[in-house]
Amino acid sequence: MENWGLITYRETALLYNPAVSSNGDKEWVATVISHELAHMWFGNLVTMKWWNDLWLNEGFATYVSYLGAHYAEPTWNMRDLIVINEIIGVMAVDALASSHPLSSKEVDVLKPEHISELFDSITYSKGAAVLRMLSEFITETVFSKGLHTYLEEFKYNNTVYTDLWKHLQMAVNNTDIKLPRPLEVIMNRWILQMGFPVVTIDTQTGKITQKHFLLDPDSPVDRPSEFNYEWFVPISWSKTGGAEQQHWLLEKEDMNKDMILGTNESLVANINMKGFYRVNYDSENWERLLAKLSSKHEDIPVINRAQIIDDAFNLARAKMVNTTLALRTTKYLHKEVDYMPWNTATRNLDYFFLMFDRSEVYGPMQAYIKKQVTPLFDHFEVLTLNWTKIPEKHTDQYNQVNAISLACSTGVKACNALTTGWFEEWRQNPANNTISPNLKSTVYCSAIAAGGRREWDFAWSMYKNATIASEAQKLMYALSCTKEPWLLNRSVALT
Ligand SMILES: [Zn+2]
Repeated sequence: MENWGLITYRETALLYNPAVSSNGDKEWVATVISHELAHMWFGNLVTMKWWNDLWLNEGFATYVSYLGAHYAEPTWNMRDLIVINEIIGVMAVDALASSHPLSSKEVDVLKPEHISELFDSITYSKGAAVLRMLSEFITETVFSKGLHTYLEEFKYNNTVYTDLWKHLQMAVNNTDIKLPRPLEVIMNRWILQMGFPVVTIDTQTGKITQKHFLLDPDSPVDRPSEFNYEWFVPISWSKTGGAEQQHWLLEKEDMNKDMILGTNESLVANINMKGFYRVNYDSENWERLLAKLSSKHEDIPVINRAQIIDDAFNLARAKMVNTTLALRTTKYLHKEVDYMPWNTATRNLDYFFLMFDRSEVYGPMQAYIKKQVTPLFDHFEVLTLNWTKIPEKHTDQYNQVNAISLACSTGVKACNALTTGWFEEWRQNPANNTISPNLKSTVYCSAIAAGGRREWDFAWSMYKNATIASEAQKLMYALSCTKEPWLLNRSVALT
């Protein structure tokens, strides 16, 4: 909690011990500290006038926490990880008909329960995503100049969001950046109406359209929008190997002949997912993107590889593309070793597993994922010198976890032997846990899933005796990984 002069932390958000904490724990500590420090300016020095603009505090602190963590740990890729940690997750929430705008009216937030309701992922994560998008289209230098004069004018005082727009506009006016509409007019559409658009680009005709993106297109939106659910969308795009271009979509429909593809070209829009929207293409471009992923996936920026998978699966859920297309975006994964595409693939495939785990397609799906993940598992075996070293890169450390958890859950034999072996060693000698802290969560989980009462009881006793909060958290999660209904029942009853 960001009290001015005395920040308070729960243990998992502050304590770090290399012997027991994972790289994820370390990142959590770094971002939480960074988040609370950001509040010294956004929240304490300058405070929103009323709770309806809570996003001014929390969206800012969330966005800036990634910049702060990046400053402290420049090799971690924090500026990219915001996409995985905040943006993709909140898109799933904001694509529901029951979502709400970032900024509400003062008169709608009067009771304590209204205020508590606002502490949600829309306020934190969408707030961060929208500020990141804004900072990208006016550039970070200009963004930071605008913030500087904003903080100067309103220090020890209160603000509403229009004060922020005013200062950022002033900063833009001192440059040669040309915005197609006043900054306030562009941004209000992103904060005063809920949701976000899906932009469809037809690379055969150059036609661009936008539509309010809803995961369930049949569920009615009963919240009217004064902007009719249309946005001013900054579209960054590029053709294979070409320079990045910018197109402002200001209407429901527009045209850009430059987007028409020549032979052998493909087009990617929303470069590095800078904008808060999803992208759909004509089937020809989808085919070319799939071909590019299969032939030379490195030609597509890593965040966009993650985005292509995530967009395709979400568009399929919204019945805008075929499910087959979504599944085909995972076909190249046997060659992929980067974390972000595996992360979005795993999230989306998890949903499939949930939907199909009692049907006849479950078996073939498991077999397919097993085939795709085996090379990744082998890659990490080599990279870690037969599981004896920790990968150097922060994101590789995360992806090692993905490799083990997917390989074990789809029955890669070497994986199950590895995790149950490590767990058994610990069980034999409880005082000496040699499992690498990064891997603890997934090793506990797969060993308990593969084991029975003996493994579960051991984890339960270690959970009860744990003196470190983050360790207890990992064990509690692992207890729920058992496949035995009666043990699952005990997990629920006891924890
Ligand atoms: Zn906060």
